Amino acid sequence: MVRILSSILDFLAPKLCPGCGRALLSAEEEMCADCLDECATLPERRCPRCGGPADGLLDECRQCQLEDDDRPWKLAVSAFPFEGKARHWIHEFKYRGGLHLAPFLAERLADAWRTYGGNEPLDGIVPVPLHWFRRLTRGYNQTDVLAGLLGRRLGLPKIPCLRRTRRTRQQARMNKEERRRNVRHAFACRTSPAGRRLLLLDDVFTTGSTLKAATEALLDGGASSVSVLTIARDL
Ligand SMILES: [Zn+2]
Ligand SMILES: [Zn+2]
Repeated sequence: MVRILSSILDFLAPKLCPGCGRALLSAEEEMCADCLDECATLPERRCPRCGGPADGLLDECRQCQLEDDDRPWKLAVSAFPFEGKARHWIHEFKYRGGLHLAPFLAERLADAWRTYGGNEPLDGIVPVPLHWFRRLTRGYNQTDVLAGLLGRRLGLPKIPCLRRTRRTRQQARMNKEERRRNVRHAFACRTSPAGRRLLLLDDVFTTGSTLKAATEALLDGGASSVSVLTIARDL
């Protein structure tokens, strides 16, 4: 009965592709085949520490070995490379109220974590917070919304224990050193994460400066481990 009802509903109001808005065919589940085709993927063999391509015989890539202190988390996993379709979707999701993309992105994030997160035990998901002023002008924190949907898929609670201590400038055009200065001490704990094993969620892994600052705040607050999950990874 439920199935009949749901096919009648599909017929009356077909599910739309969150990527391009066209009606999904019955074989297409969450996104149309065209959008999926155009969506680039990350290499299968990845560095566990940064989620980028593995580049040698060692487990960790050269960049991670060089930047050991700048990557204080345990594992980093991303769902997409930050280019093409994924880049466009993140932009929509972040700045244009593209919340309809959230379930699809949460599904891809859950998949990426199940595949590359190993069997890392976790206690909860921490969304990287926006400064209250930015949140007010944007109306929502996209990462917060995503953390809730992802949590349901992974069976983990959202633990919004971080806050921004000050407003930071937009980083899109900054180099690594500028980003590092921009976000230094930009986060603090609102509630104690002591003893928790946490998964920090953000939209894009670029230089890792924001993720580093947020991870350090959690570790300073007593978190027992922090791993990182982002929608996309700059390559
Ligand atoms: Zn589409
Ligand atoms: Zn690496």
